[in-house]
Amino acid sequence: MSNNSVKQESAEKVAMVGTPCQITASTLMNEYSDYTGKHNVDLKIGLFCMENFSYNYLKELLKEYEIDLKDVKECRIEKGFMWFYLAENQVFKISLDEAKRCIRKSCEICMDFTSEKSDISVGSVGSPEGWSTIIIRSEKGRNLVDNAEKKGYIKTKPVTDKGLKLMERLAFEKKSENLSEIKKRENVSRPVLYWRVMPSENYLDEVSDSQFIDLKGDVIDIGGCVLCGACLLACPEDIVKIKDRKPEISGECPPGCNACYVACPRTYVPENISSRGEKSPFGDYIKIISAKASIIHGQDGGVVTALLSYALADKVVDEALVVDKNIEEPWKPEAKLTRNVEDVVKAAGTKYSACPIFKAMKKIE
Ligand code: SF4
Ligand code: SF4
Ligand code: SF4
Repeated sequence: MSNNSVKQESAEKVAMVGTPCQITASTLMNEYSDYTGKHNVDLKIGLFCMENFSYNYLKELLKEYEIDLKDVKECRIEKGFMWFYLAENQVFKISLDEAKRCIRKSCEICMDFTSEKSDISVGSVGSPEGWSTIIIRSEKGRNLVDNAEKKGYIKTKPVTDKGLKLMERLAFEKKSENLSEIKKRENVSRPVLYWRVMPSENYLDEVSDSQFIDLKGDVIDIGGCVLCGACLLACPEDIVKIKDRKPEISGECPPGCNACYVACPRTYVPENISSRGEKSPFGDYIKIISAKASIIHGQDGGVVTALLSYALADKVVDEALVVDKNIEEPWKPEAKLTRNVEDVVKAAGTKYSACPIFKAMKKIE
């Protein structure tokens, strides 16, 4: 059933930078906007993502070492450790094995390492230090990279065979480890709906009667929620809130509305959008290259920042959806929709905890 009360939120062209699960949610909202409302993202820059950490679990872990997560200015994963940068140049590290107990449960069933549904995907794996790997997947992505290079924002070079092999190994490692967890959950009646094969022609019938109560049972209550905030953005009644880092509702769902269920990347995902493929490491793509920002420097070569800066400056898009740090709690990510290149530069750097990114696109009318 079509959702007739959907809102037309923005006529502006938006670019987003997001994790693979966020890119899937955006692809669903672009494709099924008759049901979710029009929250179009015109340019999707996906990130490589192995896992993400629970803010609350990490807070508890650091407490054991008498460190308050609020005092952490920056965090990096390098050389088998998670490094926490504190005030006065103090640095604290914990082994990745120890940090792994803080991985979000939803990441343990994730099959997408390289944001397979984006226009371009960017990550540090596969390229030398100071460079990033770019997977170009669409003509839009190709134009962005070509024009940014022509205008001097980035430099590119071919990716090496060694780099490609490393990317492939990590992608397959993620897929095979997480596939075991998916099968385990499916066997104990904790369905992993997004992984089930859903022919595109059956999809709308399957989700037609599903409302927030189903989203809660099928995703939120069983460790499937990736905390993307797509349900909050899509809800035409504005009754979805994120409380204690979980979506919940305060009100009644009108008959016929299934917007949150359609927007969610962890309910059923139609075959043409799904990135469940365990045999293909990166999904479909046009080419893979290495790139480096010519002006801006960052942990991954500053390429994402340079590409977004170019896209805003050259009016490829009007606004960019980025994730920055919370001023009060620097380690806690916070999404922002911005027209300013300065905001994009400020938001540079990897974030290791989940953030309801789509909340920033919600304009309360
Ligand atoms: S579910 Fe976790 S691992 Fe998968 S893309 Fe999202 S944050 Fe990354
Ligand atoms: S929470 Fe209810 S009203 Fe809001 S999108 Fe979901 S089903 Fe619709
Ligand atoms: S329940 Fe909401 S926040 Fe969680 S994954 Fe689904 S859409 Fe995203």
